[in-house]
Amino acid sequence: MRLAILSQKETIYSTKRLKEAALALGHDVSVINYQKCYVNICANHATVHYEGKPAATYDAIIPRIGAKRTFYGTAIVRQFETMGVYSINSSLAITRSRDKLRAQQLLVMKGIDMPVTGFAPDAESIHDLIHLVGGTPLIIKLLEGTQGVGVLMAETPKAAESVAQALAGLKANIIIQEFIKESKGEDIRCFVVGNKVIAAMKRTAAVGEFRANVHRGGIAQTITITEKERSIAVKAAKIMGLKMAGVDILRSNRGPLVLEVNSSPGLEGIERATGIDIATRIIRYLEKAAKPIAANSRYQG
Ligand code: ADP
Repeated sequence: MRLAILSQKETIYSTKRLKEAALALGHDVSVINYQKCYVNICANHATVHYEGKPAATYDAIIPRIGAKRTFYGTAIVRQFETMGVYSINSSLAITRSRDKLRAQQLLVMKGIDMPVTGFAPDAESIHDLIHLVGGTPLIIKLLEGTQGVGVLMAETPKAAESVAQALAGLKANIIIQEFIKESKGEDIRCFVVGNKVIAAMKRTAAVGEFRANVHRGGIAQTITITEKERSIAVKAAKIMGLKMAGVDILRSNRGPLVLEVNSSPGLEGIERATGIDIATRIIRYLEKAAKPIAANSRYQG
């Protein structure tokens, strides 16, 4: 298989591991910095150019698009799709998952339970929103945030109001969310490939912190998840249209709640915590899924 990993740097752990695993399985693999690709949008001979020449023809790509690069990154993935190249995560699915609000609307509509969430264009509706999500303490999130940056807790209505006003002043898009106290600073990351959870880890927040992100000092360890958690994770990834996804779950008094579905889940924390060779599982999946089809038939608009 001729494979390209779309990634900003070859030295990123996940990129390195995917390349290593593909080579070990005998595939031809390149790492392409999508930020440096440019495209020729043309009906019968669409191309992606890289380093001054048309990129090679690939059977499959693995997009690892940075959160701040979604717009350009998904445009490049789309271009590969128009050329008939199989992408483990389609440009449409990545775009969907990157907009937290859009993702939440879609998941809830399809029956996935999530923390109660409110959204308003300005701070004027904050009183009502506080009420809607069950009062304080509550969580305020920047729609564009990742790795726990832009996730805040407001302990009182006054604090919620001031934070919402400050963020509205900065023209930031925010959501107000019910605080799941009983999750006790823990969340579960399920790594989904195809229609299976291939690994799961529990992340526990550092003392005095409610965010379990490893980047915020959280500790990761392997965990056995329940059948219900497993099927919710698979269903959430499927609804988003992602074949490779990191589904974050909080354990609540009313059962598992999906927090987020990530389209470029990191391999480092979960491979280290579980000892599972996730990179090889992803390449094995591609070996089966990346069947060649005609140009123009993968693009979903
Ligand atoms: P990011 O995409 O920036 O990681 P998340 O929405 O996943 O943002 O939140 C980061 C962390 O904060 C989660 O992993 C979880 O530990 C904690 N958290 C987020 N939302 C809630 C919530 N509603 N109730 C309790 N803890 C939460």
